[in-house]
Amino acid sequence: IEQAAFQNDKLAMLGKIAAAIAHEIRNPLTSIRGFIQLLNPYLKEVGKQEYGRIILSEIDRANDIIYEFLNSSKPSAPMKQQILVGLLLKETVLLSDSEALMKGVEIQHEIYDPFLTIAVDVKQIKQVLLNMIKNALDAIVETDDQRKGRIVITSRKEGKYALITIRDNGKGMQRATLNRLFDPFFTTKEAGTGLGLSVSYRIIRNHGGTIHVDSQLDEGTEFLLYLPYVEGKE
Ligand code: ADP
Repeated sequence: IEQAAFQNDKLAMLGKIAAAIAHEIRNPLTSIRGFIQLLNPYLKEVGKQEYGRIILSEIDRANDIIYEFLNSSKPSAPMKQQILVGLLLKETVLLSDSEALMKGVEIQHEIYDPFLTIAVDVKQIKQVLLNMIKNALDAIVETDDQRKGRIVITSRKEGKYALITIRDNGKGMQRATLNRLFDPFFTTKEAGTGLGLSVSYRIIRNHGGTIHVDSQLDEGTEFLLYLPYVEGKE
């Protein structure tokens, strides 16, 4: 027990140090960003605006990584509240609809059990769902064929779990990608952070749930989220 307590202290301390460093890196990044923007007219004069654009987008990517990292290293004991799965999904889809619309993607939401209830940290679970929808949109945009982009979200009871599925008809994944999907910083995207799924996985595990993935290259991907449902609410 002592050993475990020591490990926990050490982890907590590492988390604090990491968060402090991340904060400190942000300040110089912000000033670099500002000065690069001031240099823009000069870059333009010598026909090198492209360099400025690359620097800015790389600074933004570093900032994204720090932001997500800070988010994920916060103490994450979930603040649980009871919510209907259907309502949670409806609210999340609403948040994603405008981006989907812009990308010509239809998000379909099917409720099979209107009374299915879970007790979760709503903010955290929304973060997970939004991240998965964003990944689905990315995967659809990255397909080269002209099929209509579609994301289907469903929920139903499965054993003692509420099962939420998020299916896309995007580009799918190779075996090598599937194997590393949940590794922190693993990304196949130019501007990705590779943190979304590792953080999502941790959140779902903290809720006593689990995540499964099914994917077929060039066909699409389905994420299955299992979260314990609240008994006696049906
Ligand atoms: P990021 O989106 O920043 O790359 P994630 O951890 O969310 O980080 O995802 C890691 C990788 O998993 C992505 O770069 C992508 O290769 C793959 N991936 C995740 N979701 C999907 C999906 N729905 N379809 C295809 N690939 C996916």
